[in-house]
Amino acid sequence: MIRVENLHRHFGGFRAVDGASLEIATGSITGLVGPNGAGKTTLFNVIAGALPPTSGRVFMDGEDITGLPPHALFHKGLLRTFQIAHEFSSMSCRENLMMVPGGQSGEQLWNTWFGRKRIAEEERALRAKADEVLEFLTISHLADHPAGAVSGGQKKLLELGRTMMVDAKIVFLDEVGAGVNRTLLNTIADTIQRLNRERGYTFCVIEHDMDFIGRICDPVIVMAEGKKLAEGTLDEIKANEQVIEAYLGT
Ligand code: ADP
Repeated sequence: MIRVENLHRHFGGFRAVDGASLEIATGSITGLVGPNGAGKTTLFNVIAGALPPTSGRVFMDGEDITGLPPHALFHKGLLRTFQIAHEFSSMSCRENLMMVPGGQSGEQLWNTWFGRKRIAEEERALRAKADEVLEFLTISHLADHPAGAVSGGQKKLLELGRTMMVDAKIVFLDEVGAGVNRTLLNTIADTIQRLNRERGYTFCVIEHDMDFIGRICDPVIVMAEGKKLAEGTLDEIKANEQVIEAYLGT
């Protein structure tokens, strides 16, 4: 689904991504691991349109998507989860989900004049969809809770839920397990696998927790010094001498 070809992203003279080439297969849950500073987040930012590359290309289903802005990628079904912004933390979990899809009639001024009925219908449909997502995530009981008041793990579920409000094809997850307790981490892992199996989502996941990676990811790509170092199952990469050296060297 995604092909990255010889991608570079430099900051001044520093090569954060330094000739990375890799592929993310349709239907996979691909893990992206590597020592701190390996360039994983920068690579994500370039693929997801948050940062322009210095050089190189990114393709999605064979189409060149290099440098497209996040909203254009969003419409193609390429999404990156992002933390719930501070300003939205007093809104309810349901409202946070309802805010995701763009291009609603309510956004256009003229509709406030003669489109009230349509807006009300869209709002009802959005609300029903949000409730369906909350149910899928097993957090229906949090629908009316302010998003800022739920636990860290529940927030992560909500972030995943936002991708379900639109037709996502591939979702990039950055450190979904950071600071989340074991029980919720299992729920998050289950949710990712269900989205993969039942809804056909492809995932690319940056994560430090190797148990989490081993449980849900195949293949695992190791990055070091801005490029791909190895790829395989978790057991294969753990036995790879270059990988061991890259981790020990930092
Ligand atoms: P990882 O996610 O693998 O830990 P990052 O992509 O966050 O790696 O960072 C790779 C390197 O690029 C780091 O050394 C970091 O300091 C540097 N870097 C990242 N973003 C910037 C930036 N905006 N300006 C300068 N250096 C940056």
